[in-house]
Amino acid sequence: MRLNKYIAQAGITSRRKADELTAHGNVKINGLVVKELGYDVKDGDVVEINGRRIDQVEQKPVYIMLNKPLGYITSSSDEKGRLTVQALVSDIDARLFAVGRLDYNTSGMLLMTNDGDLAYKLTHPKHHIYKTYRARVSGVLSPEKIAKLRNGVNIGGFVTSKANVRVIKQAERSAIVEIQIYEGKNRQVRKMFAAVGNKVQELERVAIGELYLGRLMVGHYRKLTPKEIEYLK
Ligand code: URA
Repeated sequence: MRLNKYIAQAGITSRRKADELTAHGNVKINGLVVKELGYDVKDGDVVEINGRRIDQVEQKPVYIMLNKPLGYITSSSDEKGRLTVQALVSDIDARLFAVGRLDYNTSGMLLMTNDGDLAYKLTHPKHHIYKTYRARVSGVLSPEKIAKLRNGVNIGGFVTSKANVRVIKQAERSAIVEIQIYEGKNRQVRKMFAAVGNKVQELERVAIGELYLGRLMVGHYRKLTPKEIEYLK
């Protein structure tokens, strides 16, 4: 089995992250560093990541939706000692990781799983799963700005794909906007509004595809239903 798949199936991380770990020399097989992404793991191979042998026992897949509060990071550890979303799901007996990421200052829907393959699929823009964000932005959003956001804006060398944009409320100095995008570039929504001259003051992810946050309280999580899991797969 290809190395990244093997790592993903053990619930460690996504295939993409597994490739990064391998390329950076964090993976050992039978005691030797292996940087070859296409390495084929054979029966009896001992795979270690950062010195820890990975568990070959297949884990039961767990899929949850968390309403991430502000002030938490979505990676599993932080050199600055900030709170991580892992702390909010610590009562679950599985090593879960976040599907994609949300900024420290963004709240809302975060999917977490130990199914590395699904995480990989969902974070790939080619799958065109729209993520819906509700943003409070500074200033006025003119029809020209909305058209630019819809058609694609340049955010530091990357032109965003078509987005759905709907102004929910325009006040004198700020607007509430719903925006749907399917890519997941770092701080993409903030950068898109900055590109048209509006600063994001608050940002919440309210949906991923057809999954909605609904009434899930901030800081709480729930397991996905079999129907929701089926939809994501
Ligand atoms: N876009 C952002 O700018 N931040 C997020 O957390 C998610 C999308």
